[in-house]
Amino acid sequence: MRIGIPRESLPGERRVAATPKTVPQLLKLGYEVAVERGAGARAALPDAEYEAAGAELVDTVTAWGADIVLAVNEPSVEELAAMHAGATLITFLHPRENPGLVEALQRAGVTGMSMDMVPRISRAQSMDALSSTANISGYRAIVEAAYAYGRTFGGQVTAAGKVAPAKVFVIGTGVAGLAALGAANSMGAEVYATDVRPETAEQVESMGATFLNVRAAGDEQAVSSDGYAKQTTDDYNKRAGELYAEQCPKVDVIVTTAAIPGRPSPKLITAEMVASMKPGSVIVDLAALGGGNCVLTRPGEKYTTDNGVTIIGYTDMPSRLPGQASQLYSTNLVNLLKLATPGKDGQLVVDFDDEVLRNMTVAKDGQITFPPPPIQVS
Ligand code: NAD
Repeated sequence: MRIGIPRESLPGERRVAATPKTVPQLLKLGYEVAVERGAGARAALPDAEYEAAGAELVDTVTAWGADIVLAVNEPSVEELAAMHAGATLITFLHPRENPGLVEALQRAGVTGMSMDMVPRISRAQSMDALSSTANISGYRAIVEAAYAYGRTFGGQVTAAGKVAPAKVFVIGTGVAGLAALGAANSMGAEVYATDVRPETAEQVESMGATFLNVRAAGDEQAVSSDGYAKQTTDDYNKRAGELYAEQCPKVDVIVTTAAIPGRPSPKLITAEMVASMKPGSVIVDLAALGGGNCVLTRPGEKYTTDNGVTIIGYTDMPSRLPGQASQLYSTNLVNLLKLATPGKDGQLVVDFDDEVLRNMTVAKDGQITFPPPPIQVS
């Protein structure tokens, strides 16, 4: 079978679904690889390197016309129209938010496999594109914050005087939050963090940050049985609000990452809290895509409030580190194809007895297969 790697058409997107490093790995699985000319250019991956790695360089329609298309974003109408019945599309499809796209895949007879539906189980960690993307986003959040802040993160004692370290507060210590915390710490900031899941405290402390606990007896219902956060109680929200109100005037940078799977982002930082922050402070809202954790976040934008607080609501953080984001994502794809190519013979087998392949397949053989049956999350 032939794998097609198109140039992403979403405005501003710089990532690509295969790199010159992963092309030989795809060839080793028995596939032919066709890369659209210029597909990796915005991630500093030139065509010549793909060619040297064994890929054929093709035009847009040929890339989309392959038996298996590996991509980063959802396809446009034209892109999907270029696919043939019986082909397979593997990308971020966000099927919960895009029922129309799932139907379009089914109508086209295309098998759709969604990288955001890889189950969060130990066996699937090497294919977990949500984690590799969140990791890059968390790091980049600190790079953006440091640039906007206009002071050093690390403290210094110099002949010209003493400089205090920046205080960074991370709300939500999942994959992105921990990456942000690690990056801020490595730059010398004094880092504080909190999460509705108390079990993250140990991880936070082991990374040299201080965990600020808002929980009290009776709040056990804030965490669901699979270990993910669920909607918090009014009581929790009230006490968490008190903590945020107390921290806002003290800290220089806030990174928010709080998300609840399948629901809009909870609003945690109010306008009053932003008004209490020092001029020059920065908020990076990594939950901007789901509406934001700060009420003043403008998704996709960076702006400064009247009291001098810069609020960054970029929704394209992974694309702002396109080389590494592409490398990690395309390695997730190679690991998925290793699982789905048992014979290493260039033949894709979407085995529904495999819980990873079943969970992420949204349409197959002219049928809609989303939502998948429940899976035991480890
Ligand atoms: P996420 O993006 O869903 O949420 C980010 C963080 O925000 C989480 O830590 C969450 O607890 C926190 N949060 C949500 N609402 C909040 C609120 N109101 N106040 C404060 N914090 C709030 O999370 P994620 O980074 O994608 O994943 C986190 C979970 O997934 C963890 O349980 C992690 O161990 C698990 N995980 C498992 C695997 C695997 O086994 N393959 C891979 C990655 C993550």
